Amino acid sequence: MAVQQSKVSKSKVRIRKAANRYEGVQASTCTQCGAPCLPHRVCKACGYYGGKQVLTIKEKKEQA
Ligand SMILES: [Zn+2]
Repeated sequence: MAVQQSKVSKSKVRIRKAANRYEGVQASTCTQCGAPCLPHRVCKACGYYGGKQVLTIKEKKEQA
């Protein structure tokens, strides 16, 4: 419910904003390789998403 700003104290505003504060992206691990990666995104380490290989990752770092 909208209440005019002058009737809402700074404390009430801060309490309300603290309750809805964004706490960042949750850390998750890849189901294929177990590397840390973002949820709902293709794994950068192995290129898998949803149990399927979506990207082919060139393994230049291991050869060098
Ligand atoms: Zn992976």
